[in-house]
Parts: sequence; C-alpha cells; structure tokens
Amino acid sequence: MILKEDERRLKSVFSRSILVLLISFLILSFAIPAQAFNLSNWYCCLKHPLGFELEYVNGYVVAQQIRVEGAHIAVVGDDIGLVKDQVSWLSKLDIAYDSMVELTAGEPVVQAASDKKITILEDPSVHGAAYAGNPIRIDPAFFRSQIEGSWNAYGDPSFAFIHEMGHDFHWDFPGFHFNEGGGATNEAFANFILIYAYEKLNPENIVLDRVYDGVADLETNFYLTRANTYLSGERSFEKIKWNNDAFTGLLILLKNKYGWGIFQKAFAMHRNLLGTSQISYQSLDQFTDIKKVNLFVFMLSEAAGEDLSPQFEEWGFRIVPTSTILTTSLNPSSIAANTYSNLTITGRLSRVDTGLGLEGRIVSFSCFNGTIGSTVTDENGSYTFKWTNVSLANGSYTVTASFTGDSLHEPSSKAQTVSVIEKPPPPSLPTVPGFPPEAVLIGITLAVGAIVFMRKKTRLPELWSV
Ligand SMILES: [Zn+2]
Repeated sequence: MILKEDERRLKSVFSRSILVLLISFLILSFAIPAQAFNLSNWYCCLKHPLGFELEYVNGYVVAQQIRVEGAHIAVVGDDIGLVKDQVSWLSKLDIAYDSMVELTAGEPVVQAASDKKITILEDPSVHGAAYAGNPIRIDPAFFRSQIEGSWNAYGDPSFAFIHEMGHDFHWDFPGFHFNEGGGATNEAFANFILIYAYEKLNPENIVLDRVYDGVADLETNFYLTRANTYLSGERSFEKIKWNNDAFTGLLILLKNKYGWGIFQKAFAMHRNLLGTSQISYQSLDQFTDIKKVNLFVFMLSEAAGEDLSPQFEEWGFRIVPTSTILTTSLNPSSIAANTYSNLTITGRLSRVDTGLGLEGRIVSFSCFNGTIGSTVTDENGSYTFKWTNVSLANGSYTVTASFTGDSLHEPSSKAQTVSVIEKPPPPSLPTVPGFPPEAVLIGITLAVGAIVFMRKKTRLPELWSV
C-alpha cells in the first residue's frame, strides 16, 4: 500500500468536494450490504457488448463502470464520462507509459500479467488513497478530483495517475528500493520516473500543491527547493530516506549534471542483471539499504564514467565498499627452467553481491614480491596478461594478481603457482681425450660416410655381371 504524500497534498486542495462525496459514499454504503466493501477480490468484470462493464459484488450490481483504453493504459470507472476529450487524455497517459519504458529500459512486469495494459481503476473499496499495481486502484473521490481539477481544468493528465505508473515501473528494480525499516524513497523514485514522463509530455500546467507552469517550474520550485532545504540542514541517509521530495530533488540534480542517460543505463544494467538470472528478485530485494546504495551508486558511476560516491557522501549517504572476487589462471601452468618461456594469465574481477564484472579496473601481477606488470579489465571484468620471456630456475613460484580496490569496492587478490621444471639434459656425445665432443662427432660421421661409399663402389660390378 502506498499512500502518497503528494496525493494527500493534492486532495487537500479539493477537500471540500471530497467531504461531500464521502458523505454521499457513506449513505450509499448503508444501502448496499457492508460485506460488499470488504472483499479484496471484489473486482470482476463482465464485458458488455456496448463497451460497458458491470461490476458485481456477491451478486449485487454496485456500479456500471465504463472502460476506455489507449495503447497501453486502460481506465475503468463510474466517472469516465467526466473526462473531457478522452482520446487526447488517453494518448497523454500512453505517452507517459512509453516514456517510462524508455527510461527504465523495458515494459513493467505488472503489465505482462494482464492484458498487456496497465488498468487504472476507480475503486470504491479504496478510501483516501491510490494504490500502485495492476490495476492501479484509486478512491473514486480522488479519481474525480484528478479528472476535474487536473485534466479538465488545466490539461494536466494527472499527477496521481502518472505517479502510480511510476511505482509500477520502479517495482521492477528491487536493488533501488531502499525500504529497510520503512522510508519513503520508493515515493522519490516514482516521482523521478514521473518527472521524465512530464518532460516528454511537456504540459503547460501541472497540478500538485499549486498549479505549476510546466515541468521546469515543478522541478525547480518544488523538488529542488526541498533538496536545497535538506542540504542546508543535517545530511544523513536516515533523514533523506524519509524526505522523499528532497530525495527526488537530489536525483534531479544528478540528472541536470549528467543527463537522463546515466539513469537509463543504470536501469538497463539492473534489468539485465535480473534478466540474465545472475541474481533473483527476492535475494536482491533482501539486500540491506547499505548494499543497495552501493549498487545504485555503482551503476550510476559506471554509466557516468565517473565515480559518483564522493557526491553521494557529500549528500549524507554512507558508502561502504562491497567485496570483490578475482580469479586467476596460468597457461601453461609449468615451464622449463632457465629457458625463455611465455605465460598467459587470465581471469575476471567481479562484485560478490551480484556477480557483475568490474570494467576498466587495473589488475597487477607480482612474483617474488616484484611487479611483473598490469592490465585493465574489459567490459565483462575479464582480463588477459601476457608474461613474456620468463626465465626461472627450477622450483615452485607464486604469481599473485591484485586489485587495489576503490571507493565502492574492497581490494582482492588471487595467487597461483607456476612450476618450473629442470630441462632434461641433452643427449651425451662420445668423447675422445684431447678433442672437443663436436669434433669427435664430425669425425665419426665422416668415417661412417666413407665406409658406406666404399661398400657401394665395390658392389657395382657384381650387379652388372648378373
Ligand atoms: Zn506513491
């Protein structure tokens, strides 16, 4: 359940009308058996040939709801008739959806579970709130206030609906859910995703606690103002995790400096991590906030091509380096003694938490406490190093590969043994005292050659006489 702070603000604008509607709602609830409003699975639809749907609860018709749909968003409710220019409104919600797909590098998982659309449902069982999911369920009074107060009056397709869509997309990224002990950062991410959608929609007005002159006004005078207030006070993760609007403002500061691209890449990296099953959704979700912050900052840093941990630390986040693992393999694993040989050292540097490879890191190699050389890891964290012209006396030697660590990663090293084996002695030559062995060998060769030649010569006449 997500009760939005922004939505509460918005509702206060329309509190008078809500009060009247709530009273009507209470009167209505006396007219229908109480159990009808306590069912968690009350929503079931029967399609009507004319496009209407009848809502049944334990056999009672509670509403005649209308369903309208765009390419990605369907809206079901009693009050669809209030919506001015429904086609235009639905197309705006579709643009919001498409832009979220663009930002988060994929369709949200909740969409795949149903009719390939996200449904926004005007739900009488919801009181004073809106819930993300599929369907997104919204209190009817709240639904009406969004239609009349935002879309009909100002051409804003509705902060609340787009915000809940933002939750549906953010749901796919458990590594970016800093929800240990509660906290409101999920609201911050939903609103940050919403900001991207609003930049694409670019409406003239956005209705929140007041009417903003478009998204730039909302970013500057709502979110950045709150981020600056946070930054001028005590900076700590425990504070910022409860201050979702300031948190959204910090993300906007990063976006303004590095562009949306770093977030697109970070979302893509996270989606790919789950898609390739390197780690399950559940195990990632169970990471502590400290581990998640490290992962988030790591992914953003990789995308930015710059270590962003000093920036996050300056903002009061605690960055704790995560463990790494370095593998090493020698080929060949044994060489001949006192002979020049070439060795290839290969391996991979990765994060222990997710198995993600570390790109562009220096891996150094040493033997006898002396440095052999170093190389840089590729995009998968793999490395190859050629150790050339190695000449060692026989014995066993330890070659150590090392990564010195960085602000997000602990150091790691791995030792491997290379066996250096004595070369077998060359075949011994016959010796004659006073002569070098080579001369003796030449002498023997010449003597054997002469014997063969003479034997051939003596045989020739015998052959012709036959
Ligand atoms: Zn929310």
